[in-house]
Amino acid sequence: MTDEAALAELIRERQPCVVLTGAGVSTESGIPDFRSPTGIWAQYDPMEYATIDAFDANPDKVWSFYALRYRALTGAEPNDAHRALAELEGRGLVRAVVTQNIDLLHERAGSSDVVEVHGSIRTCVCRGCETTYGLGEVQRLLDGMAVPRCPACGTVLKPGVVMFGELLPAEAIDRAYALAREAALLLVVGSTLEVAPVSLLPWETLEAGGRVAIVNLGPTAFDRHAALKLEAKAGEVLRAVAKQLA
Ligand SMILES: [Zn+2]
Repeated sequence: MTDEAALAELIRERQPCVVLTGAGVSTESGIPDFRSPTGIWAQYDPMEYATIDAFDANPDKVWSFYALRYRALTGAEPNDAHRALAELEGRGLVRAVVTQNIDLLHERAGSSDVVEVHGSIRTCVCRGCETTYGLGEVQRLLDGMAVPRCPACGTVLKPGVVMFGELLPAEAIDRAYALAREAALLLVVGSTLEVAPVSLLPWETLEAGGRVAIVNLGPTAFDRHAALKLEAKAGEVLRAVAKQLA
């Protein structure tokens, strides 16, 4: 049996299946990851561009980074991995997708139950008057100025993305833990499982009697405990798996 067939069988037999995705699921859409040698943090020091303290101290500088990211993310298209997961959800074989990604590509591919543990670019919030602005409005503001300011009160808008030093969204985190415990199979795709709290979710699944399968290029912190590990690109594997399960 091929690895893809083995994964398809695990998904068929072990329901509900919950999927956990990281940056590796979006690299095939041309979005760089964070921690690899060609990743974003090799170019931008996260302490200078991605912490809430940096944002408070110098929002213009932080937005010089986010403006580029917004353009890259909104210009990217979902890939085979996003599409296959949406297809599997539609057939009742994936309960939900928990993602570290902020790029909205799961939603754009058609997944309807997506838990975003690091927030997303869907909205920005004004910390002056609490108004929330949708992505379209933020894009329009970014077209006219380097730093998007609240049209109502002039305060620099804050991306709805969790920055280092900020609390994670409690509702999403609680849901992610609940899903991990419910999962008969937790399928990890494109995450090295190095960053908490996502790194803790496979343990929740295991302790609740579920199993864990991993699709990732390169080792992960959980490889030794996984029922199945596929060292491969997410798009190719998931397309093949969706075909096997059709
Ligand atoms: Zn405002």
